[in-house]
Amino acid sequence: MPVLLVVGAGLFGSQAAAYARQKGIEARVFDAALPNAASPAAAGLFKEAWAGRKLQKHFHRAVAVLDRLYGVRHVDLTHDDGRKESFLFVPPTTILEANPIKQDVTAVGDGWLEAAGQRHEGWVYVAAGVWAARFCPGLDIYGKAGTSFVFTGERVGRIRHIEYGRQAVAFVRDPGFTHFGDGTAERVYTDEHERQTLERAAGLGLTETPARRLHGIRPYTKGGPFFRRIADRTWLATGGRKMGTILGASFAQKLIEEEIH
Ligand SMILES: Cc1cc2nc3c(=O)[nH]c(=O)nc-3n(C[C@H](O)[C@H](O)[C@H](O)COP(=O)(O)OP(=O)(O)OC[C@H]3O[C@@H](n4cnc5c(N)ncnc54)[C@H](O)[C@@H]3O)c2cc1C
Repeated sequence: MPVLLVVGAGLFGSQAAAYARQKGIEARVFDAALPNAASPAAAGLFKEAWAGRKLQKHFHRAVAVLDRLYGVRHVDLTHDDGRKESFLFVPPTTILEANPIKQDVTAVGDGWLEAAGQRHEGWVYVAAGVWAARFCPGLDIYGKAGTSFVFTGERVGRIRHIEYGRQAVAFVRDPGFTHFGDGTAERVYTDEHERQTLERAAGLGLTETPARRLHGIRPYTKGGPFFRRIADRTWLATGGRKMGTILGASFAQKLIEEEIH
């Protein structure tokens, strides 16, 4: 049986590899560790209302996949008025491929890729986030940047409304730390955006110097999330926008169950 060769160890590529392995298919993941990849910055939260009608099919497929591969958790965040809101949650740290092959993939063709001057053959899944256009000329893709901050210590989960469809959240994504994000997604990201994000964190009591800054660029494709067979044995998926956890899971299932034979 061919091997699955994955370009990119983000939420898209890692879930495809995990899904393949669960079906007994060997998967090899290549990642060049490019700065500002989106996935390490993701909070990992999702809920049906965020998916809306357009992504509902993806949402339902994804929850089953995520639960089987990693176990879906629940997290309750408290609003300023004391109201609690429940979210589904899978920490990206449990999804992301632990030891990808740290190589830049320089070329991709029908059933092969090239990295470090070596050619590898198999089924190819290009999951290169905002860099995907390199392998699909003409792909209409752009990035929107945002920053999460990680603070030492575990605080009670909080949520604060910012505007329609956008909120600041602070919660324990990984043991021993509190993860803060405010949904900032900007094509031109400036110091002012960063300052505002830190100010919102302070508003939720996170006033000390963050232990980590996670800056990521979310991939957006015109017309919605993108999944396409670009050659007989090569597929490309990107456009995870603010929903990379569920779209990565849904596309992983599509790739393995419907496309690869
Ligand atoms: C601040 C922030 C918060 C977010 N919060 C959430 C959230 O709560 N829930 C949610 O669902 N989504 C969230 N998202 C969105 C989510 O992170 C993205 O949709 C998702 O990470 C996209 O995944 P990806 O695998 O397509 O891209 P990426 O994570 O960018 O991964 C692409 C990978 O490909 C590698 N690569 C690229 N080119 C090559 C090459 N030629 N050779 C080898 N490797 C290559 C890169 O090094 C990179 O690691 C958030 C994003 C940000 C920035």
